[in-house]
Amino acid sequence: MCGIVGIINHPEAANLAYLCLYALQHRGQESAGIVSSDGGKFYQHKAMGLVDEIFSENNLSKLNGSNAIGHVRYSTSGSSVLGNAQPFVANTLAGSIAIAHNGNLTNAMQRRLEMEQRGSIFQTTMDSEVIMHEVVSEKAELIEDKISHALKRVEGAYSLVFLVNDEMIAARDPKGFRPLVIGQLDKAYVVASETCALDLIGAKFVREVEPGEMVIFDKKGMKSFSHFTEEKKAHCIFEYIYFARPDSSIYGRDVYPIRKGFGMQLAREHPVKADVVIPVPDSGTPAAIGYSEEAEIPFELGLIRNHYVGRTFIEPKNEIRHFGVKIKLNPVREVLQGKRVVVVDDSIVRGTTSKKIVEMLRRGGAKEVHLRISAPPTRWPCFYGIDTPTREELIASKMTIKEICSCIGADSLGYLSHDSLYWFEKLSKKEWFCDACFSSNYPVALTDNPDIMKEAADAKIS
Ligand code: AMP
Repeated sequence: MCGIVGIINHPEAANLAYLCLYALQHRGQESAGIVSSDGGKFYQHKAMGLVDEIFSENNLSKLNGSNAIGHVRYSTSGSSVLGNAQPFVANTLAGSIAIAHNGNLTNAMQRRLEMEQRGSIFQTTMDSEVIMHEVVSEKAELIEDKISHALKRVEGAYSLVFLVNDEMIAARDPKGFRPLVIGQLDKAYVVASETCALDLIGAKFVREVEPGEMVIFDKKGMKSFSHFTEEKKAHCIFEYIYFARPDSSIYGRDVYPIRKGFGMQLAREHPVKADVVIPVPDSGTPAAIGYSEEAEIPFELGLIRNHYVGRTFIEPKNEIRHFGVKIKLNPVREVLQGKRVVVVDDSIVRGTTSKKIVEMLRRGGAKEVHLRISAPPTRWPCFYGIDTPTREELIASKMTIKEICSCIGADSLGYLSHDSLYWFEKLSKKEWFCDACFSSNYPVALTDNPDIMKEAADAKIS
């Protein structure tokens, strides 16, 4: 779970990268960084925290040059420490190289072990550093050849942006797990995880970086290399369900109508007599609107979210029950009092939030609480860049839907069916998505996690 950006040929490259990171903050809140380049000389600023806590006019003014790449991080590989903040810079014989990575490699441990046995020394615990070592140790002369050869040896999910001298290079894994788009702003080119970043700086959407494609940007423009033979795509469906911003367009489609459509499908599959439909804000809002429209039940805001809560908060000495959820959400009694309530959220992971929300709605006066989830049950961990807990911690891997319903205390519980996930696609194109977190169909071998791969195969047979 990360967001990446790159800008080339703009006098305010670092400032624009900073704004793009602002727009991509939802993709990672642990750390952020920008590396800029000016005639091959690199400047960088990285820190733990949110974008607006890290960057100031003063430190941005020191990021010289007309090229910059940036990153917001939520760790899925490697721990949450400053040493693991990106972009990651290496000083090599051929000059400095910086990399920003979104995704997760599935053979990083194996590759790292092999390189360490040959004497390589790693500075971080990130899988992204494995890519850097692969690139730097390549014998090819041209940087694009080095990157292309290096990427043939790593497996899994990567959307990447490199800064090398005065060139910027973007690349995407052959399955296209994570999004990556190209924009243009006058003479400048921009790459970003999502189109919402382009919108903020007024850049025009050009196209996506295609799965398996490498695009080189320099003063003359952009050049494309398709360095992999075409294979079946595996776009992450969870980007549409939860992760991407609803005002973005990724994999060639707008996120908002897809998310709203999940809610409409949910209403068809799991209707219930109710007085009001409410979302768990913000993640459940588009699907709740869809549910309400399809079911013809009024949409209301029955839970209000405090948008100013940081990542940590100081709890009072005398423990307040459900403090963590209460500081973020509060029920609206006027909406809930005596009502049969449908509450819509995008997913249940461990089940702890849903349980507290159901209790909160009952305390707020709801007569009945019917929970609707705009995705199928999350039963399998993601190894391609979404932060999910272990299989044991996923409530749907241990319990039936009936058991989950009773555990969280709802009057009824309905999940979206697997087929309805693809309401927006022809069925044949379902194959172009990765939904391993629901189905256990892992499209790229989990080289570093053979046990899960075997469990998933056994689950498919049974
Ligand atoms: P839980 O209490 O673990 O069941 O959390 C469920 C909530 O977490 C839902 O409201 C989701 O919107 C949200 N959620 C789903 N996936 C993730 C994720 N990978 N990281 C953070 N939050 C998530």
